[in-house]
Amino acid sequence: MTEQINKLFKNLETNKIKPIFAENKNEAVKIVESMLFDGAVITWGGSMSLIECGIDKLLREEKYNFLDRGRAGITPEEQQECFKASIGADFFFCSANAITENGEIVNVDGLSNRVSSIAFGPKKVIMVVGENKIVPNIKEGFLRVKKIAAPKNCVRLNKDTPCAKLGHCVSLLNNDNPDISDGCKCNDRICCNYLVSSLQRDKDRLHVILVNEDLGY
Ligand code: SF4
Repeated sequence: MTEQINKLFKNLETNKIKPIFAENKNEAVKIVESMLFDGAVITWGGSMSLIECGIDKLLREEKYNFLDRGRAGITPEEQQECFKASIGADFFFCSANAITENGEIVNVDGLSNRVSSIAFGPKKVIMVVGENKIVPNIKEGFLRVKKIAAPKNCVRLNKDTPCAKLGHCVSLLNNDNPDISDGCKCNDRICCNYLVSSLQRDKDRLHVILVNEDLGY
């Protein structure tokens, strides 16, 4: 592990967030598999990092009770039921928009089922995070959302936002130091709720599997 990752892990432990190192995607899948149990109720935040690792396929295995809010043909009512059931789930899987060397986890959400599940509800939250998402501090974490995560996700999700066309948040047009919530005013905006996970009271409810590869945005 690099000096930067050592520092990050020490600070995550101080914040009562469990850090786990995975050398690559395959190792991450094995770590996740070792944490699960038959019949576990599992939800997720729809993450490119999980998809790139193949973890979404693992979660769909029949021995688990995977509540997939994104499955083909799901009705709006069934999707709402998935979101409601998430609060009592055994596991919630997602990635993070950024993770600071100080051991804080930065997430920005539009629909906001992800930030709400991270903050409260599911018994365990497992975040699978590529080393490309490590930043020095919270400010850089939110800038990472404006420069990388939100524009790429807006393109992926076909959102009609300025960043999908510009490749960066509109707030950066004439300002390299915008406030956290500066941005567009459009209905498709995916930056609506801002969450920093710092010291947790429920020790090891949050897990970070840090993968020593680039993952997601
Ligand atoms: S505030 Fe709007 S333009 Fe800025 S990153 Fe978010 S969705 Fe894109």
